[in-house]
Amino acid sequence: MFTYHDYIWQSDALNVKGVSHGFSTRLGGVSKEPHLVSMNTGFFRGDSDETVRENIKRLCAYAGVSEAVAAAPQIHSVTVRTVDLSGAGEGVEREAPQPCDGFVTAEAGLTLAVRVADCAPLLLCGETAAGGAVIGAAHAGWRGTAAGIAAVTVEKMKALGAENIRAAIGACIHGCCYEVGEDMRDAVAKMQSRAFADRHIRCRGGRLYADIAGMNREILIDAGAVCVDVCPECTACKPYLYHSHRATGGKRGTMAALICIGGRR
Ligand SMILES: [Zn+2]
Repeated sequence: MFTYHDYIWQSDALNVKGVSHGFSTRLGGVSKEPHLVSMNTGFFRGDSDETVRENIKRLCAYAGVSEAVAAAPQIHSVTVRTVDLSGAGEGVEREAPQPCDGFVTAEAGLTLAVRVADCAPLLLCGETAAGGAVIGAAHAGWRGTAAGIAAVTVEKMKALGAENIRAAIGACIHGCCYEVGEDMRDAVAKMQSRAFADRHIRCRGGRLYADIAGMNREILIDAGAVCVDVCPECTACKPYLYHSHRATGGKRGTMAALICIGGRR
């Protein structure tokens, strides 16, 4: 179940083994431009870099995670990077070495961050046989979702020894608002299966609507996640609470999902 406090959402599915996390809204930051107010975590959207960094710093405090953050430009791929503390500051304080759409780590004190504005943010945690933790974060728009970034993230976590993997899917655009074309349904069918596409892309009033949270939940369960918590919030339904690409035609800020082993130092 998801609960809201201090401008962020948290899932009790991830409240294990000292792992800290949070899914941002558009509240609680210092951005002043109307389309960015007030928590924008994306560079090149109209805020100065300093403003974006201040927002990320505040968000780390709300979520109780380390300010040593790893992020990257995202490209709707299934590239998930395994990172350690040497990745701290990438994509925030300095340029990231490469674009990617997900991270995993077993290292304490490093915060993994992905950015969204309608796409689904996935946060995951698991345990190792030795009693340690492994975490993951992924950005899943429809392309990354259908290409299986959720399963790739789970596999990368397993490679670090993770068992009992639990996942939470934060606020994203839901089937109420995410109208799509037949070309998208066909592409999803090609990457997954026709039955998969039919389960998650439904016809209503002669139009097609996609459920990317449902797609990711199914892929996570198939990949072996023991628990998947889905935030019921739709980003496009509540423009006062979320940045939504669809609801604004693209003139919008960016939210973030953060996760860290060990919390703030
Ligand atoms: Zn909606």
